[in-house]
Order: sequence, then C-alpha cells, then structure tokens
Amino acid sequence: MGPKTVDLVVVGGGIHGAAIARDAAGRGLRVLLAEREDYAGLTSSLSSKLAHGGLRYLEHMEFKLVRESLSERAGLLKTAPHLVSPLKFLLPIFDWQPRSAWFVHTGLALYDLLSLGDGMPASGRLAKDDVDRLPHLRRDHLDAVLHYHDAHADDARLTLSAALDARTRGADVANRRAVTAIVPRENGYTVALSEQGKTRQIETRFVVNTAGPFVGEVDAMIPQGPSYRGPSPRDIRLVRGSHIVLPMPEPAETCAYTLQDEGERILFVIPWLDGNFLMIGTTDVPQSGDPGRAVCSPAEKTYLLAAYNRYFAHAGGPATEDDIVFDWAGLRTLHGAPDEQPSRISREVTIETKAQGHGGFLSLVGGKLTTHRATAEQVLARLQALGLEMGPSWTKGAPAYGGTLDREALVARAQEGPASVLPQTRRRWAFTYGDKIEDLYTQIAKEPGLAEEIVPGVPRAELQHAASVEDARTGEDFLLRRTKLRLFLDEAARETVEDWFAKT
Ligand SMILES: Cc1cc2nc3c(=O)[nH]c(=O)nc-3n(C[C@H](O)[C@H](O)[C@H](O)COP(=O)(O)OP(=O)(O)OC[C@H]3O[C@@H](n4cnc5c(N)ncnc54)[C@H](O)[C@@H]3O)c2cc1C
Repeated sequence: MGPKTVDLVVVGGGIHGAAIARDAAGRGLRVLLAEREDYAGLTSSLSSKLAHGGLRYLEHMEFKLVRESLSERAGLLKTAPHLVSPLKFLLPIFDWQPRSAWFVHTGLALYDLLSLGDGMPASGRLAKDDVDRLPHLRRDHLDAVLHYHDAHADDARLTLSAALDARTRGADVANRRAVTAIVPRENGYTVALSEQGKTRQIETRFVVNTAGPFVGEVDAMIPQGPSYRGPSPRDIRLVRGSHIVLPMPEPAETCAYTLQDEGERILFVIPWLDGNFLMIGTTDVPQSGDPGRAVCSPAEKTYLLAAYNRYFAHAGGPATEDDIVFDWAGLRTLHGAPDEQPSRISREVTIETKAQGHGGFLSLVGGKLTTHRATAEQVLARLQALGLEMGPSWTKGAPAYGGTLDREALVARAQEGPASVLPQTRRRWAFTYGDKIEDLYTQIAKEPGLAEEIVPGVPRAELQHAASVEDARTGEDFLLRRTKLRLFLDEAARETVEDWFAKT
C-alpha cells in the first residue's frame, strides 16, 4: 500500500493551524494536522488572552485590522461563550503621560463606532465618585479615568476547541506528531511525519505552514531546485512578550486596566481566573536563541513589577518578586525590517503562497488570536485560488466546539449536575468544557465512582476526559492548557496529576 493521500497538511496546532484544519474539514477537504508538542503549546497559550480590537492600532491608522478584530471579537462572544467573556477596562490618564484624556477619548469613540451594534457597552469617563472607589490606583497627577470594553479569551482552550472540532468534522488531527521533511513532487508534496517513535510518509497537494516561531524552520524544509522553490526568505523578527501573575490584592480589582507606560508601551493589568489573580503584561524584547524556550527574564520581571507599582499602591507595601506566583513568555512572529521598532510593526497577518503544479505551499506569519477564524478563511480562499475545490465558507457564526450554550445556560447546567461533584467544580467545568459538560455528567451517571476526586476539585472523570477526548498526555497538558489548575493546586497535588498521566 502506498502512502496515505490528503488534500492538505497543516503544520502546527496553534490557533491558526487548528482554525485552518477546522475550516477546511468543514468544507469537505481531506486534512491532516500535525502538532509537534501539544495544541497551543507555544504562542497560542502564551498570549495576553484578549479577544480585542487592539485600541492602540488605531494610533497607527490600522483601521481595517481594528474593524476586523472587533467584528471577530463580537463573533467569538456569541460562538464561544464558555471561553470568551466581556471585560471592562479602565484607562487612567496621568498628567505626565504623552497621550491626553481628550486624545484617548477620541480614540475610544472611534473604537465604539467601529464596533457599533455588537451589544458591548459604550466607552466613557468615570465619575469622580467611581474614581474615588477604585481600590489601589494611585491618585497623584491623575487627570481622568476612561473606560471601555473588550473581551477575555481562554487562548489554549480556543485552540483546542478548533482542533477537536476539526477532528469531529473528519480531519486527522494529532499532537506529538512532528513534520520532519517536506519533499516537492509533481502537483504536491511528500511530507514525513514522526509520531510515537515511528516515521511515515503522507502525500498531499497542499501544505500550510502555521509553525509560529518555527515558520522559518518549516519553510526551509522545502529544498530549492530548478523546478520548485520554497518561499523566499523573509525578514522574520521574534519579539518576546512576558507576563507575571500576582495574587489578587485586597480589596479585589474587578476591572482590567490599560496603562500607557514609558515611550509608546502599553501594559495590561487583568483580573484572571475568577478574580483570584492579576495578570500583568507585556514586554517587547528581541528574542535570541531557541524559539521553543522563551522565558520571562529577571529584567522583564523587574520592569513589570516596577510598572505595576508605579500605578498601584497596596496597604502592605509594593508588590515584590516574592509575590509573583506564575509567569510566562510568548514570541510574536513579526514580518518587519531589522531596524523597525517592534511596537510599530503591523500585526496584520502575511500569507506567502507558492504553487507546485496543481498543488502549493502557503506560509503564515503574524496574526492575532482574535482574528484566527477570518485568517483561516483567507487561507482557504488562497487555496481555492490555487485550484483546490472545496465547499463554501461556513465558520462565521458557527458555534465553537462546546459553544452552543450561552453563559446563563451554562450557569444553569452547572447547578443541575451530579451532587457528587462539588458546585464550584461544576461551575469550573461549565466555563471550561461548555456544552461538553454533558459528556462528563454522562460518564459519572454511568459510573458513579468517576466522581471521586484524584486531587482536591478534580474528579477522576475529568482526567479521563482530558486523556481520552482532549489528547492530554502529560500533567502539564492538563494543568496548564486543558485547565489552569496549575495555579490552584499545591506541588503534591500537581505531582499526583503528573503521575496519573505518566501511568495512563
Ligand atoms: C505576548 C503575546 C501576547 C499576545 N496577546 C494577544 C492577545 O491578547 N490577543 C490576540 O488576539 N493575539 C495576541 N497575541 C497574538 C497571538 O497569540 C498569536 O498571533 C497566535 O497565538 C499565533 O498562533 P499560531 O498558530 O500562528 O502560532 P503558535 O501558537 O506558535 O503555533 C505554532 C505551532 O507549530 C508547532 N510546530 C512548529 N514546528 C512544527 C513541526 N515541524 N511539526 C509540527 N508542529 C510544529 C509548534 O509546536 C506550535 O504549537 C499575542 C502574542 C504574544 C506573543
């Protein structure tokens, strides 16, 4: 038997690869997705977790990007209500900052205009009484506090939901499956896959490279020859963005903050995980070395803490490094000249296309979590233009995997679940698994012993679901990307979870 043949191989299971595989499978194409590590193992779980228009892109006149992002934000709030929720932002204006209240207010009015009709509250200025009630914001030299809305998104689970939906629609989707070689042939490519210690070949007409920070490495797999060429080398910049996480101070902050820091930098301070933590980010530092191993450096931690303390005061004194409970760093893969300032390089996606007979190779740089659905549509349009026949576009307005219940219905389903599972665990499940909470309930109804907790708040049913349905293979897959329990469990409990996966 010869190698298996598909229409499309997608390299990388970040948000872009997963969204492209989902869209393509839904149009009737034969699709294979290969993710070398875990779905969202790189950038797509290391973002600022916002479904946003990108207020600051207005300053760079990127109206098309902002308009598209706002429209996708509205779509995500409807189609993935378990993973994307509205978030109120405050934007304090101090008299020493470069942008005045008037200037920012005008920007917010434009932001409202570009998102007209999506049901989000209008922006405005906080009344003095409301400013006085803010728990920790420093008041010296404070001119005004403006407010607007954006949305919070669970980046890792959005990615997973697209990958699982692709599988439901017939795509061959797997993590721990690496693409190791891409050899052009007449009308397509032979792709080598390494999986579970074995190598196999697959034939495909088209390859889409969505390897994120490894996009250059995968492009370079195509040998240059007289009858074929890989994508031409491009100026790809890797820029690190880091976040730190602090426990929520007392009294709790209920709104997120957008802060204008030194130069043109914008920082976010965001209540996270049901208000248990504050997430602070991000930085803009050139990355050198292995793109798979970006970490938040000591200097970035110092910078983020100093920035936070510049804007907020706690009764117990400034936040220090000892308060940091978690941190991460992700890499922006940008397409720009070496001397361009990272914050000025457009976040608009670029898609490079090479035909190969009746097939072709597409390679994607940049983009945003927020616009992944629209970007996937753009990629499918390119494939169509290269001659790949497919069904019509379908993803706009289509519920995400787990996304058929709105937030109210999810709260109700959490309340109605089995009494053998704690109410707070059922609530967490509702806003993790969405309508797929039914699968967990059904398993427990069939086998009541699955409600037994392996560690506090984690019934056996959940670990089994993660391993058998969601492809979680390690403790980290489960604790960091399927859930965020890494931040709630102590070391002994985390080890118990890791052991459970090691033995499964
Ligand atoms: C710090 C930071 C903050 C951000 N914040 C936001 C935000 O708040 N909102 C927003 O909309 N956007 C945000 N973004 C942008 C967004 O996160 C990215 O655009 C998006 O996650 C990129 O996804 P991707 O699929 O292109 O790449 P990735 O998520 O990096 O996925 C690439 C995948 O390819 C895999 N891979 C690599 N080589 C191979 C191979 N040979 N075989 C198989 N698999 C391979 C990798 O393991 C990886 O999982 C942020 C980005 C950063 C860096």
